[in-house]
Amino acid sequence: MAMHENIESILVSEEQLKQIARELGEAVTHDYEGQELMVITILKGGVTFAVDLCRHIDLPIEMEFMEVSSYGSGTVSTGNIVIKKDTKSDVKGKNILIAEDIVDSGNTLFYLKQLLLDRGAKSVKVCACLNKAARRVVPFEADYIGVEIPDAFAVGYGLDYAEKYRNLPYVGVLKKEVYSNN
Ligand code: IMP
Ligand code: MG
Repeated sequence: MAMHENIESILVSEEQLKQIARELGEAVTHDYEGQELMVITILKGGVTFAVDLCRHIDLPIEMEFMEVSSYGSGTVSTGNIVIKKDTKSDVKGKNILIAEDIVDSGNTLFYLKQLLLDRGAKSVKVCACLNKAARRVVPFEADYIGVEIPDAFAVGYGLDYAEKYRNLPYVGVLKKEVYSNN
């Protein structure tokens, strides 16, 4: 079955996502004027947003990647954060901008921000494409947010359900039967 047929509704359109990347990239460029920045993309979900965002950041940036996992294949955060892949260069003394797909429970970024500060980063800010404020279980807010979305399981633009749908060009909600059948 084609991917699009499993989507119930579109939450954030391709056009909106383009605008978000441009506006946030310009805001970052403005805020860090005259400084250097290390952008840490959180794999895998953050990739699509990060590549769009970075093309709108007009600063000398270093690109790094981390993979952090708090999810199995289900739709509920466990709060158990595991680092599966770490940055290649040291974050010590660097301005860090974490590029992430979504802030949901807040567990991942709450933990990660503290970890990077403990490693001696000069500053750590978070830029997230999507925000589900209603789902927060720890006190964490991103510094840059693209758009607020309702409390529904979202897929597309990097976000997966059981490793699929990341390549949808928009953010949508899956039809209930797609995940209730598993
Ligand atoms: P946290 O609950 O804020 O720690 O979010 C952890 C990670 O769960 C995010 O970085 C996403 O990769 C993933 N996630 C959270 N909400 C959704 C969703 O609605 N769809 C797909 N992945 C999600
Ligand atoms: Mg993620």
